[in-house]
Amino acid sequence: MKIGFVGLGNMGAPMAANLAKEHEVVGFDTVVRPDGIVIAANAAEAAAGADIVITMLPNGDILRAVAADIHPAMAKGAIHLDCSTVDVESARAVAAQAEAHNLMAIDAPVSGGIGGAQAGTLTFMAGGADEAFARVKPLFDIMGQKAVHCGPAGNGQAAKICNNMILGVTMIATCEAFVLADKLGLDRQAMFDVVSTSSGYSWTMNAYCPAPGIGPQSPADNDYQPGFAADLMLKDLNLSQMAAQAADADTPMGQAARDLYAEFVEREDGTGRDFSAMLPRFEKRGRS
Ligand code: NAD
Repeated sequence: MKIGFVGLGNMGAPMAANLAKEHEVVGFDTVVRPDGIVIAANAAEAAAGADIVITMLPNGDILRAVAADIHPAMAKGAIHLDCSTVDVESARAVAAQAEAHNLMAIDAPVSGGIGGAQAGTLTFMAGGADEAFARVKPLFDIMGQKAVHCGPAGNGQAAKICNNMILGVTMIATCEAFVLADKLGLDRQAMFDVVSTSSGYSWTMNAYCPAPGIGPQSPADNDYQPGFAADLMLKDLNLSQMAAQAADADTPMGQAARDLYAEFVEREDGTGRDFSAMLPRFEKRGRS
């Protein structure tokens, strides 16, 4: 297969490198030129003649601009596979524009982070037509370990922001519970042993414990260097609240999580730290 790949950053470069082991890949990025990938002069050139064009970009506005560039250059019947995390509205607008150019579109944001992109173990949450999903599935199998077809255009983004809203809320709940346990004189290992096998268990406690030295290896054991950065959690929580506003959904916990991550990233020392660094943040504080 001939694949175009636009956006070769932290996630895109390793995803493109994995695809290049089995397919012909031509990439483009406005800033970086990763080794081992054939680089085109611009996005339209990377997209021309490709069976599938993948985008892995920072946000919805950039995705819309790139889509406007590449759609006219793409071959009829080709597929635009967007793996960026963007707002549901942009995903649906880009899919409609693709259709107007006789193309197909899939929105398939990922979970699994940079480690998952490198190892080819990402999870894809996909929105779009059945036929397009079937055609991009072999690429999901190379870049990831799981792909769930969530329905029509935009539903991949919907699934991603709902999942990450739960993740942000749960991480905060886990961190604040550790701090309460500390203040009540409860040993962290005992807290983990109880909660990880009781009804308070969660992925954030059991698989990604925010307390250093407790549970399996996690960013907490590496001075909170990001596996998943607080900045990206804030981005996803912002997207969840934009979507909730547009859909008139009542999401008070998602809103509270958004506000806390905004404070942490924009006014405290959260930038560049893992999203589990909420634990040392709470540790430093009292109730007021
Ligand atoms: P990144 O900033 O490292 O990469 C984005 C790349 O897009 C950059 O290299 C940038 O130069 C390029 N770019 C920007 N505008 C462009 C344009 N007009 N044309 C071509 N290239 C352009 O970001 P990332 O960490 O690779 O994340 C990419 C997407 O994946 C984001 O939507 C992010 O939310 C999502 N995501 C990231 C992670 C993670 O852990 N990093 C996890 C899940 C999802």
